[in-house]
Amino acid sequence: MNHGVTAVVGANWGDEGKGKLTDILAERADYVVRYQGGNNAGHTIINASGKFALHMLPSGVFHPGVVNVIGPGVALNVPGLLQELAALQERGVPEPKLCISDRAQIVLPYHLQFDALEEERLGKHSFGSTKSGIAPFYADKYAKLGVQVADLYHPQRLLARLEASLTAKNVLLEHLYGGQPKLDAAALAEELAAWGKRIRPYVCNTTKLLHEAWRQGRHIVVEGQLGALRDPDHGIYPFSTSSSTLAGFAAVGAGLPPQAIGRIIAVAKAYSSCVGSGPFVTELHGAEAEELRRRGGDAGEYGAKTGRPRRMGWFDAVATRYGVMVQGANEVALSLLDVLGYLEHIPVCVAYDVDGVATTDFPPAPLLDRAKPVYEQLPGWRCDISGVRDFAALPAEAQSYVRFVEEQIGVPVKWIGVGPRRDDMIVR
Ligand code: GDP
Repeated sequence: MNHGVTAVVGANWGDEGKGKLTDILAERADYVVRYQGGNNAGHTIINASGKFALHMLPSGVFHPGVVNVIGPGVALNVPGLLQELAALQERGVPEPKLCISDRAQIVLPYHLQFDALEEERLGKHSFGSTKSGIAPFYADKYAKLGVQVADLYHPQRLLARLEASLTAKNVLLEHLYGGQPKLDAAALAEELAAWGKRIRPYVCNTTKLLHEAWRQGRHIVVEGQLGALRDPDHGIYPFSTSSSTLAGFAAVGAGLPPQAIGRIIAVAKAYSSCVGSGPFVTELHGAEAEELRRRGGDAGEYGAKTGRPRRMGWFDAVATRYGVMVQGANEVALSLLDVLGYLEHIPVCVAYDVDGVATTDFPPAPLLDRAKPVYEQLPGWRCDISGVRDFAALPAEAQSYVRFVEEQIGVPVKWIGVGPRRDDMIVR
């Protein structure tokens, strides 16, 4: 029987807890696939081997039976990948099965350099980039200046591609970024060829691999990075990332037939958090924010990639309904419900007031800037629910909170996260 492909994607700003769900699903998966983004975000996974922050590797690496795939749509940071593999080995995790697409493109050292220089140049207008080189990487990719994994094994071609790209880069380094030293194509080509050797055992045609696996009815999980509100087309532009974070893009970025992606699980947080700049309608400040951040402390309310404190807010039904819609989700996983156990009343944003007009539609950035949250207060449950494994055993107020969220977003909440560990999950 063909189980189809399951997509695990974010409904919000990212950091929703996708890694934990993917890790759970990976138990029964044959393939776990990354299809977009690079090492600019991190999945946190806590399992029997310990706590791991994965930035580049797919979340199936803890399951020896799973083939982990890095698809053509990914921004491949080779040193980052090698470091993560070494870290797993150091901590006794058996070497994972890993396949890297020969069509994936490489995050080059100058992508990181340009990311940092540009954020510095923008000063207070910066985007809050993680400086992982992602925007310069995708800019080069679509300007046809990128380097594919396959190029690493063809030295003349690699050198020519770098020379073509560096002509303009060196002009920018000298004139826009204040006389930075010029980059040398030959030295870079040598470095990249060495990277190529290191990853050679993993490189293959992942598109063919996945098409065959799908035809054979193998169980494939594709995992999105960041969330719907960071999508460049549908998110909060320009406070978006540079590759599509949507399940729909998984077909493109992984290399699968679009009709293969049958089950789409959008992960939404029971409250909101966001790393980086941009409008955030339900944002909290001061003591209230600090308390929620502290309560979510184990949930890493300090960005997994940057260690920056996340911006905190109440659950935003307007944003999440939209996020779930653009993901095309047929299931929702509501994560971190346990964190809200300290509250007497829990505000949920059910509409925005934009210039005195109430709306439940998620508007583009210029209107989001002016939107004010309209809250409904739900009763809190005031207890620890982290040991609960059955929906019916949750306090009535927690059940009502979940049902309210479900009604607001219009898609069934099938999973409820009650703690950071793999088994801290209620399946409905
Ligand atoms: P991802 O990128 O979507 O995988 O999310 P992150 O890993 O960056 O952030 C989610 C954080 O929440 C991690 O520290 C997880 O261990 C933690 N987490 C996930 N689900 C739950 C949950 O239901 N409850 C609690 N308390 N923590 C959770």
